[in-house]
Amino acid sequence: ASGYTLMRDPHHNKGLAFSEKERDAHYLRGLLPPAVVSQDLQERKIMKDIRHYQVPLQRYVAMMDLQERNERLFYKILMNHVEELLPVVYTPTVGEACQKYGSIFRRPRGLYISLKEKGKILEVLKNWPEKSIQVIVVTDGERILGLGDLGCQGMGIPVGKLALYTALGGVRPSSCLPVTIDVGTNNEQLLKDEFYLGLRQKRTTGQEYSELMDEFMCAVKQKYGEKVLIQFEDFANHNAFELLAKYRTSHLVFNDDIQGTASVVLAGLVAALKLVGGTLAEHTFLFLGAGEAGTGIAELIALEMSKQTKAPLEESRKKIWLVDSKGLIVSSRKESLQHFKEPWAHEHEPVKTLLDAVKAIKPTVLIGSSGVGQTFTKEVVEAMASFNEKPIILALSNPTSQSECTAEQAYTWTKGRAIFASGSPFDPVEYDGKVFVPGQSNNAYIFPGLGLGLIISGAIRVHDDMLLAASEALAEQVTQENYDKGLIFPPFSKIRKISAHIAASVAAKAYELGLATRLPQPENLVQYAESCMYSPAYRNYR
Ligand code: NAP
Ligand code: MN
Repeated sequence: ASGYTLMRDPHHNKGLAFSEKERDAHYLRGLLPPAVVSQDLQERKIMKDIRHYQVPLQRYVAMMDLQERNERLFYKILMNHVEELLPVVYTPTVGEACQKYGSIFRRPRGLYISLKEKGKILEVLKNWPEKSIQVIVVTDGERILGLGDLGCQGMGIPVGKLALYTALGGVRPSSCLPVTIDVGTNNEQLLKDEFYLGLRQKRTTGQEYSELMDEFMCAVKQKYGEKVLIQFEDFANHNAFELLAKYRTSHLVFNDDIQGTASVVLAGLVAALKLVGGTLAEHTFLFLGAGEAGTGIAELIALEMSKQTKAPLEESRKKIWLVDSKGLIVSSRKESLQHFKEPWAHEHEPVKTLLDAVKAIKPTVLIGSSGVGQTFTKEVVEAMASFNEKPIILALSNPTSQSECTAEQAYTWTKGRAIFASGSPFDPVEYDGKVFVPGQSNNAYIFPGLGLGLIISGAIRVHDDMLLAASEALAEQVTQENYDKGLIFPPFSKIRKISAHIAASVAAKAYELGLATRLPQPENLVQYAESCMYSPAYRNYR
C-alpha cells in the first residue's frame, strides 16, 4: 500500500510517530513534517487538547476524531485515563452525543440496518470490512440511557460500549461490531428534525419488527458462527425481555441493561454487606423502577440468596419489593401487570407513593432504577435513615440529571450514615469533616470482563451462574482502603486487572458448566486472560 493510504488508515496510522526507517520503507517521506515523536508525547499532546475543551461534547468529538484517525493512540489514551475519559466516551456525555448525533455526525461508524435492508441483512454484513467478529453490540435506539427514543441516533451507544470492550476488557477493536437496527422512531422532535439520520417513520412493531430482528440474529450466526457474542443494548423493556428469552437458548446473547446491571449492582451489594453486616437474605430490598434494570437486579439478588440459603426462589423473592409508576407492585394488581413484574407481586395492601412504600416495607436497601431524577426526596432518605443504622442507597438512573438524588444529598440527609453509590459519577463529598467517596455502579465494571471471559473460553451460551461469578469476582476486588472511604466498588484505574479476574471467573464457570468450546482449559485463567488482552502500543512496520 502507498504511504498515503497507510497514513489514512486508522488501524495503522501512527502520525508523527512513524520512525525514519518506516518513513523510508513505506513511502511516507515528505508526507509528514520532519519531527519524529513518541506515542507518549502524542498522548500528552492529545490530553492537553482535550482538557482545553470546557464543553463535554467537544471532548467527545475530539475523542471520536482521534478514533477515526489513530486507533492505537485512542485506546492508549482511553486506557491510561479511564476515570477521566469514561464519562466522555460513555455516560453521561454519550447521551448528549446521541441527542445531537445528526449535527456532530461526520463519518459513519458501525452498521446501520434499517427496514430498507430487510431481506438483505446477510449481504449488509458482508459489506463490513472485518471478517472475524467476536462481539456485537446492537441497539434499536428505543430507550437510550434514561433519555428515551433516539431512533437511529442511538448508534453512539454501541460505538461507545465497544470502545470500552477494547479499552477495559482488551477485546481487539477489529473484532468488535456496533450495530443499530432502525425500525423508525416515535420521537416527534427527531422526525421533524431536518438533520435526523434515520428512517422518517413511526416505529414498526409486531411481526415486521420480530422478522427483522430474527433475520439479523440468523444472519449473524450464519456469518460469524456460534461463538459471536451479541449484546442487546438500550432496547425498550417491551422488547428487551422477549428478545433475551427468545435467543438465550440458541445464541450467545446478553442484555446489559438487564443482566449486566444486575451483576454490577449485586457486586456492590455484596461489598456493601461488608460495611453493614448481615447476609443478603437478612436484608429487605425496595426498588423504585420495575423495568429492565429493576427486575433484572431483583432477580439476580433472589438467585444469589437462594444459592446461599437453599430456599426456593419464590421464597427469596419475597424479600424484594418494587414500585413502578403506579405504586407498589402487589398481588391485587396481578391481572394488569407486564410478565416480568409478575414474580414481584407479593401480598400487601396497595401503596401509592415511594415514601409510603418505604414506611410500609422498611427496606434496608433502597435502589433507584426508574430513570426519573430527584425521586429520593429528603423525606424518603430521612425515612431510610430513621430505621437503618447504615442505609444502603443506590441511585442508579442515568444520566446525572436523572439521578434519584445526589451523593451530597444522600450523605447530608443521613448525616453521613448512608452507603451510597450511583449510576452516573459524583465527586467526593465532605460531610462533618469526613470525606465520602461515592462509588459508581457502572456497567463498565462487568461487561468487558464478562465478554472477554466468554471469548477466551469459547462459550456458546450465557448462563446466570456466569453473572453471579462475575459479581463475586468484582466484589473481591474491593480493598480495605476502598471500604474505608465508603466505596463499594473498586477504582476504575485498576479496571484491566479487574476485567482479567472477571474474565477468568466467567471462563471457569463456562468450563464447569460444559459451555466452553476452547479446549483444553488453560491452567491459569487469570494469566491467560491477561495474555489475550489487546495492547495499544504501536507496532513496528518494516
Ligand atoms: P425501563 O425498563 O424503562 O424501566 C423504568 C421503570 O421505572 C418502569 O418500571 C417504570 O414504571 C418506572 N417508572 C418510570 N417513571 C416512574 C415514576 N415517576 N415513579 C415510579 N416509577 C417510575 O428502564 P430501565 O432499563 O430499567 O432503566 C431505568 C434507569 O436505570 C435508566 O435511567 C437507566 O439509565 C438506569 N440504569 C442504570 C444502570 C447503572 O447504574 N449501572 C444500569 C442500567 C440502567 P412502569 O413500568 O409503570 O412504566
Ligand atoms: Mn444500556
